[in-house]
Amino acid sequence: MTGPAVLLENGQVIDGLGHAPRIGSVLFDETGILRVGTVTPEDLANRPVTRIDATGKTIMPGLIDAHCHVTFDEPHSNDELFFHRRPGLAAIIAAYNANKVLQAGVTGFLDADCIFDLGVDLRDALEANVVPGPRMSTGGYVLLTGVGGTAGRLLPDSGTRGYGVVVGSRDEIVREVRRQIKLGVDWVKVHVTGVIPRQKHAGEIQVWSYDDLRLVVDTAHQLGIPVVGHCRNASSARDAARAGFDLLLHATFMDDEALAAVVDARVPIVPTLTFQANLADHGDLVNAAPELREIFRREIEHGAVMLRRAYDAGVPLLCGSESGFALTPYGEWHFRELQLFVEEFGMTPLEAIRAATSEAARALKLYGRTGALVEGYLADILVIDGDPLENIRILGDKRRIEHIFLNGLPVSREPPRTRRPISGWRVSPFAERILTWEMAEAKARASSRDQA
Ligand SMILES: [Zn+2]
Repeated sequence: MTGPAVLLENGQVIDGLGHAPRIGSVLFDETGILRVGTVTPEDLANRPVTRIDATGKTIMPGLIDAHCHVTFDEPHSNDELFFHRRPGLAAIIAAYNANKVLQAGVTGFLDADCIFDLGVDLRDALEANVVPGPRMSTGGYVLLTGVGGTAGRLLPDSGTRGYGVVVGSRDEIVREVRRQIKLGVDWVKVHVTGVIPRQKHAGEIQVWSYDDLRLVVDTAHQLGIPVVGHCRNASSARDAARAGFDLLLHATFMDDEALAAVVDARVPIVPTLTFQANLADHGDLVNAAPELREIFRREIEHGAVMLRRAYDAGVPLLCGSESGFALTPYGEWHFRELQLFVEEFGMTPLEAIRAATSEAARALKLYGRTGALVEGYLADILVIDGDPLENIRILGDKRRIEHIFLNGLPVSREPPRTRRPISGWRVSPFAERILTWEMAEAKARASSRDQA
């Protein structure tokens, strides 16, 4: 016999599968969802039931963030991420941040690459209820070639740094994939594109050969583990899709050939527009470089056209926010990917919710088992004060999240305690600008004018 059941009564039920909402009730317990729609007295017989009136509220599946970096701890720069972190403290702080993610209504997330290979340990701690947080699906170190990834020269020529491991030969690829799988990863991640000095005008370029991508896929699939790729140019999305990748991150900048390969493979995509949109729209609030804001705005506009075509051709698009950076802090912006799916892809709010729930469950490897209000599914459920179909942005207002249930159990809504600074954890520049003689002179001239 399990604990008490929970009955959410008379709410607007959004099932996460894209069906039209209906007024109804949802009954569930730790074993899963028992009834959706009409609950009869027989369903409630012989057991304690906690009843919650959801009249005027929305009952929906918990959000799933298919692209979240829970171990990064909101760095302001790659330098901070790669050179200002310590393994033990990073693990403790990742646990603290996982709770922030859960408090925002995110009941599951994929973190495909973790600093210090922490993901497996954090996932196991979350599953064992050692620390509060969402369901987690995890990768280990992202696989990089010697050319590197988005962090360029900050990466070493061999070995590990930050969230990456450099694999220099086909032997090393096979050994590292097998090592990660022995450790217990859910996914193997590859940085298929990277930034190269003097070719920056081209954005990111493909830094893996097709044959090596195939080798990763063959080695991982043989052991039953899927592969996810960071693909931020056209050829990388094409080659990763053809090589048998199971999930693509970004897939912005696709051309017709890449689109055809992605559609052919029906490989799900996590476009991840939130980071770029935050920089483009709110970069002024955090003194981001104006030219960066322009680049990211263009990436969204270009990406949206091709990604919409992929979606229309049957490619699943999943919501993932890239939370974990200073521009995308934990628990703040997960909802924004849904908003961008509506604004940039022209999805309906119902479609965007599906992309962040039942479809995003693919990233948890729980497709068909969570992310929808269906009898027999795991009970990861939110009660929202208001109607996200009228305004999808209300999902970003944590005050409107009245209840969160994870695995059928209520989540304690105690917000994480406020943190104090930790020595050496953040980059602390001597100065934000170069101090020239002319600046000092100008200041002196201004003060003598004031005195005159
Ligand atoms: Zn990422």
